Amino acid sequence: MLVTAIAVWKWFSPTPAEVESFRPGWMLEIWVRNVVLLLLAAGIPHLWLYVWRRQGDDLRYDARPLGRNKRLFLFDDQVKDNVFLSLVQAPIVASLWEAGGWWAYANGHAAVFLFADNPVWFVVLVALVPIYSAFYFSTHHWLLHRGPMYTHVHSWHHRNVNMGPWSGLAMHPLEQVVLFSDVVVFLVIASHPVHFLFAMLHHTMGAPLSHTGYDGVRVGPVTVPVGDFHHQLHHRFIECNYGGFETPHDDVLGSFHDGTAAGDERIAVRRRQLSAAKRSRS
Ligand SMILES: [Zn+2]
Ligand SMILES: [Zn+2]
Repeated sequence: MLVTAIAVWKWFSPTPAEVESFRPGWMLEIWVRNVVLLLLAAGIPHLWLYVWRRQGDDLRYDARPLGRNKRLFLFDDQVKDNVFLSLVQAPIVASLWEAGGWWAYANGHAAVFLFADNPVWFVVLVALVPIYSAFYFSTHHWLLHRGPMYTHVHSWHHRNVNMGPWSGLAMHPLEQVVLFSDVVVFLVIASHPVHFLFAMLHHTMGAPLSHTGYDGVRVGPVTVPVGDFHHQLHHRFIECNYGGFETPHDDVLGSFHDGTAAGDERIAVRRRQLSAAKRSRS
């Protein structure tokens, strides 16, 4: 994602002069590039793993097929539902956030610094972006599991009990707006556009790649580690693993599921307690 952020900044971004005001031309270019990025990050793994079945169920977490002929999904089909939400809605939301970022840089609302200005802080900030991104995701995702936010918004994402790459950004538009909103931090701290793009790509690329449903993609003798077992368990059991594997959220909340039978039992107790609390409230 960092390499992609640098490449996007260098070759696939609007010029500073263009972005001083919102105009359809450069905004449409951003949108096209984001659609292409999604086709690469979600479309290629989907073809490889689910259409061409290049490795069958090898390294797959849950071998059950993705949903078909179920009225739960748009077009009665899980993949079509996911592609629609990920490829039609998500790039619009992402591109609007990104356009806002470019505009803020160009008009002095977000402070820019260059690598030469402070190389040490540049590198430190690169390292901080994934940590910040994981904390932001964990916190807002846990909040999305509270009350009406789950019922009306986040439940869209949880149509995916089992999941594939197109599940990553398949969510209610409001959730997409909230997901990408972590970039407002760059209004407060000075950054380089590479930091901003790196943060954006944690969603545009990171979400599809963490939802592949496989622990890795085998390409010849190499296994590319994609997928996220911790989050896969969240989709399967819902009331566990709200955070990232690296963040402390689930330890604090008592919702950590490690994938073992003991973890299963702990989360079953937790689900019963949550249901009882919900019944007593209503
Ligand atoms: Zn969730
Ligand atoms: Zn998910």
